[in-house]
Amino acid sequence: MPHRAGRLLQTEDYLFSFIDRSRALADQAGLAPVPLGVGDCDLPTPPHIVEAMRRAVQAPELHRYPPYAGTAELRTAAASFLLRRFGVRAEADSELLVTLGSKEAMAHLALAYVDPGDVVLVPDPAYPVYERWARFCGAEVVRVPLREENGFLPDLAAIPADAARRAKLFWVCYPNNPTGALATREFFAALAQFALEHDIIVASDAAYSEIYYDCAPPPSFLEAPGAMQCGIEFHSLSKAYNMPGWRVGFAAGNAAVVDALRMVKTHTDSGTFAAIQHAAVAALTDTTGYPERLRATYRARMRLLCDGLERTGLDVLRPSATFYCLVRTPPGYSSEAFAKRLLEDARVLTIPATGFGAGGEGYVRLTVCADTTLIEEAVRRVAGVAW
Ligand code: PLP
Repeated sequence: MPHRAGRLLQTEDYLFSFIDRSRALADQAGLAPVPLGVGDCDLPTPPHIVEAMRRAVQAPELHRYPPYAGTAELRTAAASFLLRRFGVRAEADSELLVTLGSKEAMAHLALAYVDPGDVVLVPDPAYPVYERWARFCGAEVVRVPLREENGFLPDLAAIPADAARRAKLFWVCYPNNPTGALATREFFAALAQFALEHDIIVASDAAYSEIYYDCAPPPSFLEAPGAMQCGIEFHSLSKAYNMPGWRVGFAAGNAAVVDALRMVKTHTDSGTFAAIQHAAVAALTDTTGYPERLRATYRARMRLLCDGLERTGLDVLRPSATFYCLVRTPPGYSSEAFAKRLLEDARVLTIPATGFGAGGEGYVRLTVCADTTLIEEAVRRVAGVAW
């Protein structure tokens, strides 16, 4: 058997070591861990979307290969969503592309732009895909710290001049996984300015744009002046409509960047099943108030979790958005040691935030993709352990 490519040999699946350990514990006698680690929406896709799929799957014309850029109906629905929700105008024909969820598209953006030796700016901590694919393409990854005292926003002035000069891509993610932080419009405006000055593409991950609590709806990077000249934003139906298994999302932004991504994808996949795209139109044109009901569910779960953990004496960072919250590691613990004790002694699966980069040291991440009974049980178990 030939050995794997160098790019894979250098890759470690850090996050999964905890999840694997949790599975092993679940298979043993004793308490199975409460899974508050992975952000996999536990609720079903709403019935009106499932019904749109049920009808669409019976239409033979939808069984063929879909158009590479996605169906015109879904691109138009996505353009209307961007306008309605953010006031952003994107041309359905040239500035929008349907994607297989957002993960593959974010990965493929690196293939479209990154050559060996280029710099890619990646926040620290961050969703691992940005860094992994930059490295797969031979880039030099420069991590940009997200610090709590700075609202988990990058300090643009602290980015080394040489890195800014050589950078091709700058990844950002707001609402942010893993910190739950929001970006301000002022930050997005400064980021667009920075990107235009240094000729960098801003790759904005907006997967959590619709999951927010007790605050104004989070902005899109594309609202910023000049953003359509330098940016692309990735939207996903996974979180907002409980459709993670359906694999559908869209990318919107600068026409040349959207086109480069489309080109990589024409050589890679043949699009999301057209019946799923039909269902995605039903989601984006929702008139049932579903996203608000979903937010209410997560808000109630998040309060339960944060209130409960605070009662146990832990230090919780209540998020403004996303279904994640960070908990500070108690004195004397590293993130990993704390997550290990939570798993082995409290039997609660969390993710050490260092799984998202060294900048996550000092925190573990928990999700509320679990019902209230499980959250109450997790809190009870954590309360039984002395830190
Ligand atoms: N971006 C972030 C920050 C995520 O946490 C995830 C998934 O958890 C994704 C993107 C990918 O979601 P999908 O590929 O389902 O759109």
